[in-house]
Amino acid sequence: MRLPYSRDDSAWGSVMIPITVIKNGEGPTALLTGGNHGDEYEGPIALFDLARTLNVEDVSGRVIIVPAMNYPAFVAGTRTSPIDKGNLNRSFPGRPDGTVTQKIADYFQRELLPLANIALDFHSGGKTLDFLPFCAAHVLADRVHEASAFALVEAFSAPYSMKMLEIDAVGMYDTAAEDMGKVFITTELGGGGTATAKTAGIAKRGVRNVLSKAGIFKGPVDVAQTQWLDMPDVDCFCFAEDAGLIEPLVDLGDAVKRGQITARIHPIGRTGQAPIEISAKMDGLLCARHFPGLVKSGDCVAVFAVTV
Ligand code: CA
Repeated sequence: MRLPYSRDDSAWGSVMIPITVIKNGEGPTALLTGGNHGDEYEGPIALFDLARTLNVEDVSGRVIIVPAMNYPAFVAGTRTSPIDKGNLNRSFPGRPDGTVTQKIADYFQRELLPLANIALDFHSGGKTLDFLPFCAAHVLADRVHEASAFALVEAFSAPYSMKMLEIDAVGMYDTAAEDMGKVFITTELGGGGTATAKTAGIAKRGVRNVLSKAGIFKGPVDVAQTQWLDMPDVDCFCFAEDAGLIEPLVDLGDAVKRGQITARIHPIGRTGQAPIEISAKMDGLLCARHFPGLVKSGDCVAVFAVTV
Protein backbone atom coordinates (compact mmCIF):
# COMPACT_ATOMS: atom_id res chain seq x y z
CA MET A 1 0.00 0.00 0.00
CA ARG A 2 1.43 3.37 -0.98
CA LEU A 3 0.99 6.03 1.67
CA PRO A 4 -0.29 9.28 0.21
CA TYR A 5 2.19 11.63 1.89
CA SER A 6 2.33 15.14 0.61
CA ARG A 7 5.17 15.84 -1.81
CA ASP A 8 6.73 18.50 0.41
CA ASP A 9 7.17 16.02 3.27
CA SER A 10 10.44 14.74 1.86
CA ALA A 11 11.28 12.44 4.78
CA TRP A 12 8.29 10.26 3.90
CA GLY A 13 8.02 10.97 0.19
CA SER A 14 8.08 7.41 -1.14
CA VAL A 15 7.37 5.17 1.85
CA MET A 16 5.20 2.13 1.24
CA ILE A 17 3.83 -0.38 3.74
CA PRO A 18 5.37 -3.84 3.13
CA ILE A 19 2.80 -6.57 2.43
CA THR A 20 3.08 -10.20 1.30
CA VAL A 21 0.23 -12.29 -0.11
CA ILE A 22 0.64 -16.06 -0.50
CA LYS A 23 -2.20 -17.88 -2.26
CA ASN A 24 -2.45 -21.51 -3.26
CA GLY A 25 -5.41 -23.74 -4.04
CA GLU A 26 -8.70 -23.50 -2.19
CA GLY A 27 -9.19 -22.46 1.41
CA PRO A 28 -9.87 -19.61 3.78
CA THR A 29 -8.02 -16.30 3.98
CA ALA A 30 -6.00 -15.23 7.03
CA LEU A 31 -5.07 -11.57 7.59
CA LEU A 32 -1.97 -11.40 9.81
CA THR A 33 -0.86 -8.07 11.25
CA GLY A 34 1.82 -6.66 13.55
CA GLY A 35 2.99 -3.16 14.31
CA ASN A 36 -0.52 -1.80 14.85
CA HIS A 37 1.30 -0.02 17.67
CA GLY A 38 4.77 0.81 16.40
CA ASP A 39 6.80 -0.05 19.51
CA GLU A 40 5.63 -3.70 19.84
CA TYR A 41 8.01 -6.19 18.25
CA GLU A 42 6.98 -9.85 18.50
CA GLY A 43 4.40 -9.45 15.71
CA PRO A 44 6.78 -7.80 13.23
CA ILE A 45 9.48 -10.39 14.06
CA ALA A 46 7.13 -13.33 13.49
CA LEU A 47 5.56 -11.85 10.35
CA PHE A 48 8.70 -10.64 8.56
CA ASP A 49 9.99 -14.17 9.26
CA LEU A 50 6.80 -15.85 8.02
CA ALA A 51 6.69 -13.77 4.83
CA ARG A 52 10.24 -14.94 4.05
CA THR A 53 9.89 -18.62 5.02
CA LEU A 54 6.30 -19.74 4.32
CA ASN A 55 6.35 -22.20 1.41
CA VAL A 56 3.54 -21.73 -1.07
CA GLU A 57 3.13 -25.55 -1.35
CA ASP A 58 2.26 -25.63 2.36
CA VAL A 59 -0.61 -23.15 1.89
CA SER A 60 -4.19 -24.06 1.08
CA GLY A 61 -6.03 -20.78 0.77
CA ARG A 62 -4.55 -17.33 1.20
CA VAL A 63 -2.30 -15.62 3.75
CA ILE A 64 -2.09 -11.83 3.78
CA ILE A 65 0.88 -10.68 5.87
CA VAL A 66 1.35 -7.07 7.01
CA PRO A 67 4.21 -7.11 9.54
CA ALA A 68 3.93 -3.40 10.39
CA MET A 69 0.42 -2.00 9.96
CA ASN A 70 1.18 1.48 11.23
CA TYR A 71 4.41 1.58 9.29
CA PRO A 72 5.33 5.24 10.05
CA ALA A 73 4.97 4.48 13.80
CA PHE A 74 6.97 1.25 13.42
CA VAL A 75 9.83 3.03 11.61
CA ALA A 76 9.86 5.74 14.30
CA GLY A 77 9.71 3.16 17.13
CA THR A 78 6.68 4.87 18.63
CA ARG A 79 3.21 3.66 19.63
CA THR A 80 1.42 6.21 17.46
CA SER A 81 2.20 7.82 14.13
CA PRO A 82 4.88 10.53 14.10
CA ILE A 83 3.02 12.16 11.18
CA ASP A 84 -0.46 12.74 12.63
CA LYS A 85 -0.14 11.27 16.18
CA GLY A 86 -2.76 8.71 15.11
CA ASN A 87 -3.33 5.58 17.24
CA LEU A 88 -4.19 3.16 14.43
CA ASN A 89 -5.92 0.73 16.79
CA ARG A 90 -8.40 3.49 17.66
CA SER A 91 -8.83 4.91 14.14
CA PHE A 92 -11.41 2.51 12.69
CA PRO A 93 -13.32 2.59 10.38
CA GLY A 94 -10.93 5.30 9.19
CA ARG A 95 -11.45 7.83 6.40
CA PRO A 96 -10.32 7.65 2.76
CA ASP A 97 -9.88 11.44 2.84
CA GLY A 98 -8.49 11.62 6.37
CA THR A 99 -5.04 11.79 7.93
CA VAL A 100 -2.39 9.18 7.10
CA THR A 101 -3.41 6.95 10.03
CA GLN A 102 -7.10 7.26 9.08
CA LYS A 103 -6.23 6.29 5.50
CA ILE A 104 -4.41 3.15 6.70
CA ALA A 105 -7.43 2.21 8.82
CA ASP A 106 -9.72 2.80 5.84
CA TYR A 107 -7.57 0.53 3.65
CA PHE A 108 -7.92 -2.31 6.19
CA GLN A 109 -11.63 -1.60 6.71
CA ARG A 110 -12.63 -1.53 3.04
CA GLU A 111 -9.94 -3.59 1.26
CA LEU A 112 -8.20 -6.16 3.48
CA LEU A 113 -10.66 -7.15 6.22
CA PRO A 114 -13.47 -8.01 3.75
CA LEU A 115 -11.11 -10.57 2.14
CA ALA A 116 -10.39 -12.33 5.44
CA ASN A 117 -12.04 -15.22 7.24
CA ILE A 118 -9.73 -14.97 10.22
CA ALA A 119 -7.58 -12.09 11.50
CA LEU A 120 -4.64 -12.31 13.91
CA ASP A 121 -3.38 -8.94 15.18
CA PHE A 122 -0.19 -9.15 17.25
CA HIS A 123 0.27 -6.81 20.20
CA SER A 124 2.74 -6.56 23.07
CA GLY A 125 3.09 -4.09 25.91
CA GLY A 126 5.05 -1.43 24.03
CA LYS A 127 7.34 0.91 25.93
CA THR A 128 4.93 1.42 28.83
CA LEU A 129 3.63 -2.07 29.72
CA ASP A 130 4.94 -5.61 30.13
CA PHE A 131 2.58 -8.60 29.78
CA LEU A 132 2.58 -12.28 30.57
CA PRO A 133 2.68 -13.91 27.12
CA PHE A 134 -0.90 -14.65 26.05
CA CYS A 135 -3.11 -15.02 23.00
CA ALA A 136 -6.60 -13.59 23.46
CA ALA A 137 -10.08 -13.17 22.07
CA HIS A 138 -12.99 -11.07 23.21
CA VAL A 139 -16.03 -12.19 25.08
CA LEU A 140 -18.76 -11.73 22.40
CA ALA A 141 -22.55 -11.65 22.47
CA ASP A 142 -22.63 -14.26 19.68
CA ARG A 143 -21.45 -17.46 21.38
CA VAL A 144 -20.74 -19.32 18.11
CA HIS A 145 -18.56 -16.45 16.87
CA GLU A 146 -16.85 -16.35 20.30
CA ALA A 147 -16.19 -20.11 20.33
CA SER A 148 -14.54 -19.94 16.87
CA ALA A 149 -12.15 -17.30 18.17
CA PHE A 150 -11.36 -19.15 21.42
CA ALA A 151 -10.55 -22.30 19.41
CA LEU A 152 -7.90 -20.34 17.46
CA VAL A 153 -6.58 -18.83 20.71
CA GLU A 154 -6.13 -22.30 22.16
CA ALA A 155 -4.41 -23.45 18.94
CA PHE A 156 -1.94 -20.53 19.13
CA SER A 157 -0.48 -22.32 22.20
CA ALA A 158 0.91 -19.32 24.08
CA PRO A 159 1.77 -20.12 27.71
CA TYR A 160 -1.46 -18.26 28.65
CA SER A 161 -4.77 -17.76 26.82
CA MET A 162 -7.09 -14.89 27.73
CA LYS A 163 -10.84 -14.35 27.64
CA MET A 164 -10.66 -10.61 27.23
CA LEU A 165 -13.24 -8.10 28.29
CA GLU A 166 -12.92 -4.85 26.33
CA ILE A 167 -13.63 -1.88 28.60
CA ASP A 168 -13.65 0.63 25.74
CA ALA A 169 -14.10 -0.87 22.26
CA VAL A 170 -14.77 2.37 20.34
CA GLY A 171 -12.82 2.69 17.08
CA MET A 172 -10.80 -0.49 17.57
CA TYR A 173 -9.48 -2.69 14.76
CA ASP A 174 -10.70 -5.68 16.82
CA THR A 175 -14.25 -4.33 16.79
CA ALA A 176 -14.13 -3.50 13.08
CA ALA A 177 -13.16 -7.12 12.34
CA GLU A 178 -15.70 -8.64 14.75
CA ASP A 179 -18.52 -6.44 13.46
CA MET A 180 -17.84 -7.87 9.97
CA GLY A 181 -18.23 -11.36 11.44
CA LYS A 182 -14.52 -12.16 11.14
CA VAL A 183 -12.89 -14.55 13.61
CA PHE A 184 -10.52 -12.18 15.38
CA ILE A 185 -7.70 -13.02 17.78
CA THR A 186 -4.92 -10.93 19.25
CA THR A 187 -1.93 -11.30 21.55
CA GLU A 188 -0.03 -9.57 24.30
CA LEU A 189 3.48 -11.06 24.32
CA GLY A 190 5.80 -9.21 26.68
CA GLY A 191 6.64 -5.54 26.13
CA GLY A 192 8.91 -2.81 27.40
CA GLY A 193 9.66 -1.72 23.83
CA THR A 194 11.65 -4.83 22.94
CA ALA A 195 11.31 -8.60 22.43
CA THR A 196 12.98 -11.65 23.98
CA ALA A 197 14.00 -14.98 22.46
CA LYS A 198 11.17 -16.56 24.42
CA THR A 199 8.41 -14.16 23.32
CA ALA A 200 9.60 -14.02 19.69
CA GLY A 201 9.57 -17.84 19.64
CA ILE A 202 6.03 -17.93 21.02
CA ALA A 203 4.92 -15.55 18.23
CA LYS A 204 6.64 -17.53 15.44
CA ARG A 205 5.18 -20.86 16.61
CA GLY A 206 1.77 -19.36 17.36
CA VAL A 207 1.12 -17.93 13.91
CA ARG A 208 1.81 -21.28 12.21
CA ASN A 209 -0.31 -23.10 14.80
CA VAL A 210 -3.24 -20.75 14.07
CA LEU A 211 -2.88 -21.13 10.28
CA SER A 212 -2.80 -24.92 10.74
CA LYS A 213 -5.94 -24.91 12.91
CA ALA A 214 -7.69 -22.79 10.25
CA GLY A 215 -6.78 -25.39 7.59
CA ILE A 216 -4.53 -22.98 5.68
CA PHE A 217 -1.06 -24.26 6.64
CA LYS A 218 -0.10 -27.89 5.93
CA GLY A 219 3.44 -27.87 7.36
CA PRO A 220 4.64 -29.01 10.80
CA VAL A 221 3.37 -27.25 13.93
CA ASP A 222 4.41 -27.14 17.57
CA VAL A 223 1.36 -27.03 19.85
CA ALA A 224 1.58 -26.90 23.65
CA GLN A 225 -0.58 -26.73 26.73
CA THR A 226 -1.95 -23.31 27.66
CA GLN A 227 -3.31 -21.87 30.91
CA TRP A 228 -6.64 -20.09 30.39
CA LEU A 229 -7.16 -16.76 32.14
CA ASP A 230 -10.22 -14.55 32.41
CA MET A 231 -10.54 -10.79 32.82
CA PRO A 232 -14.10 -10.69 34.13
CA ASP A 233 -14.65 -6.96 34.81
CA VAL A 234 -13.09 -3.50 35.19
CA ASP A 235 -11.71 -4.47 38.62
CA CYS A 236 -8.90 -6.18 36.66
CA PHE A 237 -7.32 -2.79 35.91
CA CYS A 238 -5.44 -0.55 38.37
CA PHE A 239 -4.49 3.01 37.46
CA ALA A 240 -2.12 5.47 39.16
CA GLU A 241 -3.91 8.43 40.72
CA ASP A 242 -0.65 10.28 41.33
CA ALA A 243 2.75 10.42 39.68
CA GLY A 244 5.77 8.84 41.32
CA LEU A 245 8.31 6.06 41.58
CA ILE A 246 6.73 2.61 41.34
CA GLU A 247 7.97 -0.19 43.60
CA PRO A 248 6.72 -3.62 42.48
CA LEU A 249 5.83 -6.00 45.32
CA VAL A 250 4.83 -8.88 43.00
CA ASP A 251 6.07 -9.87 39.54
CA LEU A 252 4.26 -11.05 36.39
CA GLY A 253 2.61 -14.42 36.90
CA ASP A 254 2.66 -14.18 40.72
CA ALA A 255 -0.55 -15.21 42.47
CA VAL A 256 -2.34 -12.45 44.41
CA LYS A 257 -5.20 -12.32 46.92
CA ARG A 258 -7.98 -9.74 46.97
CA GLY A 259 -6.79 -6.74 49.01
CA GLN A 260 -3.10 -7.65 48.71
CA ILE A 261 -0.81 -4.67 48.16
CA THR A 262 0.99 -5.40 44.89
CA ALA A 263 2.89 -2.13 44.29
CA ARG A 264 3.67 1.18 45.96
CA ILE A 265 3.97 4.55 44.24
CA HIS A 266 6.40 6.77 46.13
CA PRO A 267 6.00 10.54 45.76
CA ILE A 268 9.29 11.95 44.45
CA GLY A 269 8.91 15.65 45.26
CA ARG A 270 10.31 15.26 48.80
CA THR A 271 11.34 12.57 51.25
CA GLY A 272 9.23 11.40 54.16
CA GLN A 273 5.90 11.07 52.34
CA ALA A 274 3.85 7.89 52.48
CA PRO A 275 3.53 5.95 49.22
CA ILE A 276 0.22 5.32 47.44
CA GLU A 277 -0.59 1.61 47.65
CA ILE A 278 -1.92 -0.39 44.68
CA SER A 279 -3.97 -3.42 45.76
CA ALA A 280 -5.51 -6.32 43.88
CA LYS A 281 -9.29 -6.14 43.73
CA MET A 282 -9.62 -9.90 43.12
CA ASP A 283 -7.90 -13.23 43.71
CA GLY A 284 -5.84 -14.06 40.64
CA LEU A 285 -2.45 -13.33 39.15
CA LEU A 286 -0.60 -10.29 37.84
CA CYS A 287 -0.82 -10.39 34.02
CA ALA A 288 0.49 -6.91 33.13
CA ARG A 289 2.51 -4.20 34.82
CA HIS A 290 3.75 -0.71 34.10
CA PHE A 291 7.23 -1.04 32.60
CA PRO A 292 9.12 2.24 33.19
CA GLY A 293 10.10 2.98 36.80
CA LEU A 294 8.27 6.31 36.92
CA VAL A 295 4.51 6.57 36.52
CA LYS A 296 2.25 9.48 35.66
CA SER A 297 -1.25 10.14 36.94
CA GLY A 298 -3.68 8.02 34.89
CA ASP A 299 -1.15 5.37 33.85
CA CYS A 300 -2.27 1.74 33.94
CA VAL A 301 0.05 0.26 36.59
CA ALA A 302 -1.29 -3.29 36.97
CA VAL A 303 -3.72 -5.71 35.32
CA PHE A 304 -4.95 -8.80 37.15
CA ALA A 305 -6.60 -11.91 35.72
CA VAL A 306 -8.36 -14.94 37.15
CA THR A 307 -7.20 -18.47 36.38
CA VAL A 308 -9.93 -20.58 34.74
CA1 CA B 1 -0.73 -2.68 21.80
